[in-house]
Amino acid sequence: MPAMETWQNILRDSITTYDDLKKHLGCDNPAIHDVISTYPLRINPYYLGLIKKPGDPLWRQAVADPDELCDTVCQSDPLGEEKLSAAPHLVHKYPDRVLLLVNGQCAMYCRFCTRKRMVGTERMTISPKSLRKAYDYLRNNPQVREVLISGGDPLLLPDEMIGDILAELRSIPSIEVIRIGSRVPCTLPMRITPRLVGILRQHHPLYINTHFNHPLELTEEAHRACSLLADGGIPLGCQTVLLKGVNDSLEILKELFTGLLRMRVKPYYLFQADLTRGTDHLRTHSSVGINLMRGLLGHISGMALPTLALDAPNGKGKIPLTPQYIIQQGEKLEFTNYLGEICTYPEAGDPI
Ligand SMILES: *Cc1c(COP(=O)(O)O)cnc(C)c1O
Ligand code: SF4
Repeated sequence: MPAMETWQNILRDSITTYDDLKKHLGCDNPAIHDVISTYPLRINPYYLGLIKKPGDPLWRQAVADPDELCDTVCQSDPLGEEKLSAAPHLVHKYPDRVLLLVNGQCAMYCRFCTRKRMVGTERMTISPKSLRKAYDYLRNNPQVREVLISGGDPLLLPDEMIGDILAELRSIPSIEVIRIGSRVPCTLPMRITPRLVGILRQHHPLYINTHFNHPLELTEEAHRACSLLADGGIPLGCQTVLLKGVNDSLEILKELFTGLLRMRVKPYYLFQADLTRGTDHLRTHSSVGINLMRGLLGHISGMALPTLALDAPNGKGKIPLTPQYIIQQGEKLEFTNYLGEICTYPEAGDPI
């Protein structure tokens, strides 16, 4: 057996039970037992160290909450991913790109996860052999030019397996771009090692979209991880989820998005929370996100601005939720600017 790497040791020491929560965070509500037996718990020592007090923004993302079992509104598979599966672990929703789920494990089980019905459970055991059918599908469907590798977290797989998956995808001539979705730069930044980056950089054009939700996650370690990836020539994006009591405030989002930009991570999406069973207590009204975007647009660098998007229920796709700036269209276009001032622009040509 090769020696365990630092990140593997950290992961092994994760807390996973109600007794662990009691011991480390002083939780005292036996109802949490039932929550964990439905939706697994994993908080690794790195992320645990960032939690400062009960109910703080990192606590709310990581610690099992009895409210998870009181959700009667949301659905177990809100994005209809099972219906849209073209092959095992492969979701084909849009014509030119697919989502390939390669791993069921994560460095932390986020309480708001869209795939909380399956992450960390038996339902998501994925073997390299079971991915064969997905590769065959991609070979037979050359209209697919981009593969989005996700999970669970792809970067929790061993280096060699990541290299094999990437090499397999790269051997399909019609695949132009590979995109990896991974939360480890945020939840277990030690996983980003020079050796891993050495493997990833052999498969350009490769993009990574990571996932930070709060400025307190932008630590020295996270910065180091993102720098290693960026120095490997990997463009970095961030898919943040808007969550009640975590980041539903203008000051927090400003700090998060400008901080990400300093770490060479471009905010890509700010997601309206999905309609995921067990997460209703973390959702916000759509007007909250739209108003927050109004407070950001024009007030911080355009480079730091994500698109606020709603992933429509039942696999209907991502819909941008944009504040309304247009007042009316006629001979002149009338609109407000970022300060709320009314402006006009004389039209040219005929309307279409
Ligand atoms: C989100 C998603 C994508 C990628 O969409 P982009 O807008 O290109 O980021 C692809 N496939 C599925 C199934 C998705 O849910
Ligand atoms: S890291 Fe991503 S896939 Fe894993 S639990 Fe968190 S949100 Fe879900």
